[in-house]
Amino acid sequence: MKIIKTVKEFEDYRSSKIVSTKSIGFVPTMGALHKGHLSLIEKSVINNDITIVSIFVNPRQFNDQNDYNNYPINIDEDIKLLESVKCDVLFSPLNDDIYKSYSGFKMDFKGLDNLYEGEFRPGHFQGVVDIVYLLFSIVKPNNSYFGEKDFQQLAIIKLMVKQSGLKINIVPCPIVRELSGLAMSSRNKRLNVEEQGQASNIYKVLRIYKDKIKVSDNPQDIIIKITEEINKEEIFEVEYVVFCDAETLESIEKFKANTNIMLCLAVWCKKVRLIDNISLQF
Ligand code: AMP
Repeated sequence: MKIIKTVKEFEDYRSSKIVSTKSIGFVPTMGALHKGHLSLIEKSVINNDITIVSIFVNPRQFNDQNDYNNYPINIDEDIKLLESVKCDVLFSPLNDDIYKSYSGFKMDFKGLDNLYEGEFRPGHFQGVVDIVYLLFSIVKPNNSYFGEKDFQQLAIIKLMVKQSGLKINIVPCPIVRELSGLAMSSRNKRLNVEEQGQASNIYKVLRIYKDKIKVSDNPQDIIIKITEEINKEEIFEVEYVVFCDAETLESIEKFKANTNIMLCLAVWCKKVRLIDNISLQF
């Protein structure tokens, strides 16, 4: 695997004759890789001539300095994992280098940046758009792979691509979970084994309600029940639970037949913020 650390070196590589005619798959990450990331990379390896993965812990998308300072970094292990799935190139730029000549992309979030994750993480989605737009402009991929775990991020990236006119196909990838059901996340590394076991209850509650909810139920009542159920465990503090339309992300006030709905939540597990979601169809 080729490891490229500067934008200049990457641009030279990208414009070289043997690369410029190939199909490029791209997976942006913040490292501390796990099987969730690897599932995106494996999909890219199957469907593209060259797969490029970036590792960059993007300070602009952290609204909480403590979260940024404690974000797990494990580059040696990441390199081994990337090699094991036949990634072709790792691009791991430094902050000053990548943001050096960035003029930004002003997108119309259509309010999506203020909902759910955005409400509790002000500025987060602008930071995500900053780095993803910049990486897209440098990497120039044909296909780029994003996890449905970050459901709102995926919707915003699709909107950004549409508005910017970039010719990049955004490929959504399903959530990869631990055997216990806990959604894999780099932040899980900050939980001990016992806490990880307790955290798997979050998905168990989502599963129970996915099977239980009827179209005649009141979404607000279910939100209260889910919140109470999760908060029963002392280490949890639910930040939000929401039912939203899977396409528009609009919050659902009343269930209707024949609609695709996402049940999304964020939960603090001690000092670690976890997100998860599950789809429902009536
Ligand atoms: P991150 O390193 O957290 O920025 O994540 C990089 C990409 O991996 C994003 O598109 C995430 O949505 C995706 N991802 C993270 N965790 C998972 C997971 N458990 N299953 C599938 N995709 C994931």
